[in-house]
Amino acid sequence: MPMSASFKQRLAPVLEKASAHFGTPFHIYDEAGIRETGRQLNQAFAKVEGFREYYAVKALPNPSIMEIMQDLGFGFDCSSTPEVLLARSIKSDGEDIMLTSNNTSPNEFETAAMDGGVILNLDDASLVSKVPTMPELICFRYNPGPRRKGNKIIGNPVESKYGVSHDQIIDAYRAAMDRGAKRFGLHTMLASNELNYEYMVETTRMNLDMVSTISDALGIQFEFINIGGGLGIPYRPEDKSMDIDAMARETLELLEAFKQSHGWVPKFFMESGRYVTGPHGALVTKVINHKDIYRKYVGVDASMSALMRPGMYDAYHHIHVFGKEDSKDRETVDVVGSLCENIDKFAVQRDIAKTEEGDLLIIHDTGAHGHAMGFNYNANLRPKELLLREDGTVELIRREERIEDYFATLKFEPDLLDCSQG
Ligand SMILES: *Cc1c(COP(=O)(O)O)cnc(C)c1O
Repeated sequence: MPMSASFKQRLAPVLEKASAHFGTPFHIYDEAGIRETGRQLNQAFAKVEGFREYYAVKALPNPSIMEIMQDLGFGFDCSSTPEVLLARSIKSDGEDIMLTSNNTSPNEFETAAMDGGVILNLDDASLVSKVPTMPELICFRYNPGPRRKGNKIIGNPVESKYGVSHDQIIDAYRAAMDRGAKRFGLHTMLASNELNYEYMVETTRMNLDMVSTISDALGIQFEFINIGGGLGIPYRPEDKSMDIDAMARETLELLEAFKQSHGWVPKFFMESGRYVTGPHGALVTKVINHKDIYRKYVGVDASMSALMRPGMYDAYHHIHVFGKEDSKDRETVDVVGSLCENIDKFAVQRDIAKTEEGDLLIIHDTGAHGHAMGFNYNANLRPKELLLREDGTVELIRREERIEDYFATLKFEPDLLDCSQG
């Protein structure tokens, strides 16, 4: 079931005023919903020793949202230097930040090491010698290859560019120890938008098996395992929510069994993005045109620069027409933006209430990998972000991009290199 009834209820009374005041299009996020999901997650895993969620910043990199995460006791999983700086900008530091990067550059290592450092999650064995100073605590991302099947979005582990292979993982830790590492974590991320909780439990089982193998080989203990993100949300009306309580229960059983047999147990981390914020955001956009050719088109004032999941992954986002939720007068349309790209469609051949110009469309579940994935192709500018606070106020938390932002990178000191002389 997309977008909760309670978010709809909170949104309804403010939507017209907010649209008139701030102007469309905008993403709007629901503080109450985000907090509720965060609390539920903490509660489900309350019995798991050292449980911690490291919110995947890339899903919704906005400091106002990240402050809510901090409040919930979450750390931050960052995938790049700017994301680390975002986390630091709200006074998060040290082991509250995990840097899971891929194809890491020397610059990234340098920034990571500054200001109290971060938990470094290395993506390859070859990076051990490239870390300027090996931190005491080190983590590797493990790629099991043919031992596991990935899911649709993230792909087959054998074809995935992430992580250290099975054959290299022990040597990777050994090399890190040789350079001075003394505390260890193990990370993996194999699924994306997975609604079957058992897949996550299997990942925990796999991580614990690996922890056993590596500890035996090297005589070390692990401080934590991290199973990554990838918990799914129900985008389609017929989808069921992931059973987080069952996942927590079975995870706890695995960890307890591990403790029984080993006398110690690693802490349990995860780094969900989508699960925490995905359902608690919506893209609000206004109908500006109707076109009736071979198909019917509803043209809106947002384009895929505001939400590219439908175009990029064929992803389904539920849409309802504000004020016409129960209308029987419906039609089948493509909902489109203005880009010169035929994939610039929020919905294809979708049955929605019949619209008029000026109607507001609510595109559901844009609270993760929505605004953040936007881009500037066709010189399209990304929309603003609003936060519906628990007290009912609506706060601008990122302004829209403007023409002057687009032109900003065209203002620079002239720089001409003459390569014509040998
Ligand atoms: C993208 C990503 C996440 C978050 O994924 P969700 O599907 O939003 O839960 C977590 N960890 C890593 C390493 C990622 O790349």
